[in-house]
Amino acid sequence: MLGLDIGGTKFAAGVVSADGEVSGFVVAPAHAQRGPKDGLARLFELGRNALGDAGLPADELAGIGIGCGGPLDWERGVLIAPLHLPGWENVPVVALAGDAFGRPAVVDNDATAAAAAEHRFGAGRGTRNIVYLTVSTGVGGGVILEGRLYRGSTGNGGELGHVTVDWHGRECRGCGRRGCLEAYASGTSIAERAREAGMDAGAATDVAAAARAGDPIAVQVWQETCEALACGITSLANLFEPELVVIGGGVSRVGEQLLAPVRELVRAQVIAPAGRELGIVQAALGDSVGVVGAAAVAFERLAPGVTVGHS
Ligand SMILES: [Zn+2]
Repeated sequence: MLGLDIGGTKFAAGVVSADGEVSGFVVAPAHAQRGPKDGLARLFELGRNALGDAGLPADELAGIGIGCGGPLDWERGVLIAPLHLPGWENVPVVALAGDAFGRPAVVDNDATAAAAAEHRFGAGRGTRNIVYLTVSTGVGGGVILEGRLYRGSTGNGGELGHVTVDWHGRECRGCGRRGCLEAYASGTSIAERAREAGMDAGAATDVAAAARAGDPIAVQVWQETCEALACGITSLANLFEPELVVIGGGVSRVGEQLLAPVRELVRAQVIAPAGRELGIVQAALGDSVGVVGAAAVAFERLAPGVTVGHS
């Protein structure tokens, strides 16, 4: 499969095998403000470069998976008005990709696609029920139930960043309500709360580093972050009783500084007995997760008989 990832700042493409191996991985600046016509022409060119680098002739390509932020209509294959792509409205991206490559294409929400990727190829391999959270500029995620992506009635379910952890809490820029998980655990909020408390923090990684060094403000902000994340995950664990919670995204790269306190808090809070041993682990796929995710949903939807280990 060819995976195409439409980010707000970067486009990425790569060829992904049935075992999740990526070849011909290429990245280019998005220049999304130039609009969808120009943007998709460059994205598809990037896809052709990936096929060339991977040595895969276009007529041997099984299909194309496209990952993009929402809102989008995965069934009709249309980008409705992605929040990170101003001016990209009602773009029939699946039809356009189908015309460009002469192969079937699918589109899906990028966080949903990342969940599919971690389930099929990454940290959640071999499990039936997982919750995937990406903790990055915002907080997103996806849920796999009984081995399949859960999408909701119109495909826009799984907005895990907007689980409420404090209904009188901070305003959520993503949805306008108060006290969403995203309003506390996102990288943006971590840095913002540190600045409000008087720290000179540019990014969440600065706060994490200062907390490791023992800065009392940073320690406090980090602890609040872990508590908020644990609160959200506890609700999700009580809802879905997953075997595993996988955490990806830029903020998760600090590893156990985030995961260990969250794991301990969730296990202490979750309704027994299901979550007492709940695994909360770091995502296994790195920078290529967008491309692998796009391909993972393409495998699920275009080649449902193909499973990992069978090519
Ligand atoms: Zn929200």
